[in-house]
Amino acid sequence: MRLAHFIDGGFRAPASGRHAAAIDPATGHAFGEVPEGDEADVDLAVEAAARAFPAWSSMPAAERSAWLLRLADAVAARADELARDESMDAGKPLAAARELEIPRAIANLRFFATAILHESSEMHDMGSVALNYTLRRPRGVAGCISPWNLPLYLLTWKIAPALASGSTVVAKPSELASLTAFRLAEVAAEVGFPRGVLNLVLGGAPAGRRIVEHPKVPTITFTGGTPTGRAIAKTAGPMFKRLALELGGKNAAIVCEDADLDEAVPTLVRSAFSNAGQICLCGSRILVHRSRLKEFMDRFLERAAALKVGDPLDPETDMGPVISAGHRARIEGMVARAIEAGAVLACGGGRPRISSERCRDGFFLSPTVLMGVPAGCEAAREEFFGPVVSVQGFDAHHEAVAIANDCDYGLACSLWTRDLDRAHRMAAAIEAGVIWVNCWLLRDLRTPFGGVKDSGVGREGGDEALRFFTEPKNVCIKLGAR
Ligand code: NAD
Repeated sequence: MRLAHFIDGGFRAPASGRHAAAIDPATGHAFGEVPEGDEADVDLAVEAAARAFPAWSSMPAAERSAWLLRLADAVAARADELARDESMDAGKPLAAARELEIPRAIANLRFFATAILHESSEMHDMGSVALNYTLRRPRGVAGCISPWNLPLYLLTWKIAPALASGSTVVAKPSELASLTAFRLAEVAAEVGFPRGVLNLVLGGAPAGRRIVEHPKVPTITFTGGTPTGRAIAKTAGPMFKRLALELGGKNAAIVCEDADLDEAVPTLVRSAFSNAGQICLCGSRILVHRSRLKEFMDRFLERAAALKVGDPLDPETDMGPVISAGHRARIEGMVARAIEAGAVLACGGGRPRISSERCRDGFFLSPTVLMGVPAGCEAAREEFFGPVVSVQGFDAHHEAVAIANDCDYGLACSLWTRDLDRAHRMAAAIEAGVIWVNCWLLRDLRTPFGGVKDSGVGREGGDEALRFFTEPKNVCIKLGAR
C-alpha cells in the first residue's frame, strides 16, 4: 500500500519521489509506504488552499456545515475499516479504535459542523453616541500539524473547527501514523469536497517546518512534543502568526484520604495505561494520601499486573505496543535511569511474553509502576509517554498540590475526594488547564482544552477553537450622523 498526498482535490506522489516504510507497531513490520513530503509538496498545498480560500470563506456557514456533515457521514460509513487501519498503523487495541477513537473523530466533525450554525458575535452599545460590533472573519490558510498517538481523532479535532469557521487547511499528520489521514482524504474525494479546501501533506519534520514558515499560512495549530512546539514558536513568533500549541504533559492524580477507591483504582489504571500510556492526558504521577497508600498500591498493582498486553486484534487485549522501536528504547532507558537514581520497580519494567505469533517482533512493554522516584530526577519531571506510572505518598493536601505543581508541564490533573469544597480549593490551586474531579477523560467538546507552562499555549474546543481561526474586527458606527 502506497499512500499519497491529497492536494487541490487530487492524490499526488511526493515531488522528491521519496517514501518511508509504514510500520505496524504490533508486528514490527512494514505494511506500506508513506511519502516523505517536503517544501515542494507543502508549497503546492498552500497555493491550492490559498486559491480555495475566497470561495470557502465566503460560503454561508450553513453550506460549510453541510459539507462537513457529508464528510462525517462518509467517515461513519467507513468506521470499521478506519478502526482496523488505525489499529494497524498505531498499534492500538482494535476495540479502542472502534469504540472510542473513530467515533470521536466523527463526533469532532459533527460537533464543529453544527457549532458554526450557532455562532454569535458581540455588540458594544455606547447609547446614543455609537455602537460597536465585532466582525469575525476567517484568517486564511490554517496549518494543522498533529501527532501519532490518536491520529484521526486529533487531526479532525483541528481541521473540523478550521474548516467550519471558513479557513482552508493544509494538514500534516505524523509520519509514524498517516493511514487514517490518507483515508480521510479518500473520503473527501469520494464526497466531492470542494477542491483545495482540505489538503493533506504526508511526511515528517521537513514538511512540518515548511508549513510553519510559509508566509501564506497565518494560523498554525500544533499538537505534539514540547521541544517541537518550542521550535515552532521560534519560527512563528517573529512572523506574528497565530499559534495554538498543545504539548506534553506529566499529569498528576491526587488520591485523598476519603477517595472512593472502587472508582479511583480502575480509573487510574485506565488513565495510566490506556493506549499504552501514549495519551498526553494520561495520569503518570499518582499521589496518594499516606493513610490509604498501602490499600491503594495493593489494588492498583493487582489490576496493573492483570492487564493483558498483546495482539491489538485480540478482543481480550487491554494494551498494545508502543509506537516504535526507538520510542520503546527511549522509555526503557528512562526506566533504567529512574532505578539507578533510586526508584523502586513495583511491577513491570520489561518486555512481556507475547503469545500471538504474528506479534513476536512488536514493540511491546509491560505496564510498569515505579515507587520512590526521587524528586527532581528525570523520571519525576519528563514525560515517559509510555506505560509507566509513578506512585508516591503525601501527608497534607497542600503538599500534594505542591508536588503536582513542581513540574514544568501543566496539562491535566485528576482529584479523588468526596469533599467537594476541598476539590474546588485544590482545583483552583493546581497549575493545569484541565482538572477532573473523581473521573478522568470525561470530555465535553464545548469546554476549553489545553495546558499551561510547558504544556502549551492557547485552547482548543468549543468557541475557543472556532474563534482561534477567525480574526475579530471592531466596527464602530457613530450614531446621529446626517
Ligand atoms: P512530535 O512533536 O515529534 O511530532 C508532532 C508532529 O509535528 C508530527 O506531525 C511531526 O511530523 C511534526 N514535526 C516534527 N518536527 C517538526 C518541526 N520542526 N516543525 C513542524 N512540525 C514538526 O510529537 P509526537 O512524538 O508525534 O507526539 C507525542 C507528543 O505529543 C507527546 O509529547 C505528547 O504529550 C504530545 N501530545 C500532546 C497533546 C495535547 O493535546 N497537549 C495530545 C497528544 C500528544
